[in-house]
Amino acid sequence: MVLAELDVIRPLLVCPRCRAELESDAAGTGGLRCAAPDCAYHASPAFPDAAGRPVLVDFEHSVVRREAVAALASPAHVHRGADALPTPLRRLAKPPNRAAAHNIDLLLRALPGPAPTLLVVGGATVGNGVEAIYRDERVRVIGFDIVKSPATQFVADAHRIPLRASCVDAVLVQAVLEHVLDPAQVVAEIHRVLKDGGLVYAETPFLQQVHAGAHDFTRFTASGHRYLFRRFEELAAGPVAGPGTQLLWSVDHLVRGLTRTALAGRATRAALFWLRGLDHLVPPDFAQDDASALYFLGRRRDREMTPEEIIAYYRGAQVPS
Ligand SMILES: [Zn+2]
Repeated sequence: MVLAELDVIRPLLVCPRCRAELESDAAGTGGLRCAAPDCAYHASPAFPDAAGRPVLVDFEHSVVRREAVAALASPAHVHRGADALPTPLRRLAKPPNRAAAHNIDLLLRALPGPAPTLLVVGGATVGNGVEAIYRDERVRVIGFDIVKSPATQFVADAHRIPLRASCVDAVLVQAVLEHVLDPAQVVAEIHRVLKDGGLVYAETPFLQQVHAGAHDFTRFTASGHRYLFRRFEELAAGPVAGPGTQLLWSVDHLVRGLTRTALAGRATRAALFWLRGLDHLVPPDFAQDDASALYFLGRRRDREMTPEEIIAYYRGAQVPS
């Protein structure tokens, strides 16, 4: 895995509250505080440290609690149940995400310069199909999440990304926007930290059951997902997985409800894995209206999509009545 060293990205970091510069803690602990004297995060010690990873969170406006920082090691909010299975079963339960692999390949090819910077929002776990960004030695990867992880350099809340404006060439936000309180604010932050013409790749569920308990808030149709990224030019968009995958999720959760156990649901999902193959029989316009999840690959621009444009955007199978 190629992650940028914290020292390398340190000049990009700013206060999540007021976006002023950061400076070393006056107490000489090696911690960080806001350099603006009138900011609440100037008082020492301002930002805690989680085993060498600065926690750059505006606690008054975040689900991350200051007193819980020491326990941040457990990414309990992330649903990765299939990761505990042996490899053959894991591939049945969680097959490779080919849409992501293809789109990440497009994104990496489009990245400019000898050392482009790519920010992974919600990067505590390396996502399915995006492994190539961590293998590309040309790319400087910056990762953060509300939990600490070997795949991130700092802890932060995506509603207030502690990075300077216009400092990254690309952003990856995979299976994250359903877990934030205000997806539009997070996308506005992604827009702010991207350089002019920078790229974003997002994957977000449309028809999936709740999968992270208290940390699951929102779903998007294809048009809703497109409008969320209304200040981006579309390079590619479509279903990550279609109605067969969606049916598999529904059967899993129906069985969970009937048997009162998640294990029975997961076992049923594994037995009915072939339903996923039906995705290939559904044409794109129908799949658009019934996708399990959707992707969007876009380029930052200043102009915003108009209401008229988003109505004209619809590509599903339903004709006006
Ligand atoms: Zn500040």
